[in-house]
Amino acid sequence: MRLLEERIKKDGQVLGEDVLKVDNFLNHQVDPELMAAMGEEFKRLFEGAPITKILTVESSGIAPAVFSGLAFHVPVVFARKHKSLTLQDNMYSATVYSYTKKVNNHISISKKFLNENDRVLVIDDFLANGQAVEGLLEVIDQAGAQLEGVGIVIEKTFQKGRELLDQRGIHVESLARIAAFEQGEVVFLDENNEN
Ligand code: 5GP
Repeated sequence: MRLLEERIKKDGQVLGEDVLKVDNFLNHQVDPELMAAMGEEFKRLFEGAPITKILTVESSGIAPAVFSGLAFHVPVVFARKHKSLTLQDNMYSATVYSYTKKVNNHISISKKFLNENDRVLVIDDFLANGQAVEGLLEVIDQAGAQLEGVGIVIEKTFQKGRELLDQRGIHVESLARIAAFEQGEVVFLDENNEN
């Protein structure tokens, strides 16, 4: 998605070897017009899929997920993160390891908001090693719901998340695909992408 790639080039900051900071428009300050355009783009990319619910994880997935929900006219549910897990009967839950923060988070969602009739689109801000998405897929399995696809705002293709999801035959769409960071600059997988 051209608009997003331009924004990453303009405002993204490469931190160390493999982290991109985008707190100017996605992870802290949020650009609602860009979010709305991304929601419409996910709608176009998953056209025809019978999606009944958008699922994400707090907090950075919420903005793109809500605008996707608006485009699809379906509710949005975000999994909550907890440091320690007290197992509760009324929750679905999974453990997610964060490579960026080097901690285990437990994520959970109420059984009230996901069930076997749901056809789910997972949305998240980044796809790196795939742990966050895997956790959400576990929760979807527990609910007996059906996964329709995974929509990612920024994918880092040099980390292993995409491969894991491809191996499982999951329909993944990423709005920006980063091939590498070179001397602190972002290199996109397809710099000529006209989307
Ligand atoms: P994964 O579980 O795929 O390894 O990482 C996904 C989660 O880690 C995302 O939800 C995001 O919050 C965070 N993350 C991973 N890589 C980056 C990055 O380069 N920049 C930022 N800002 N967050 C990241």
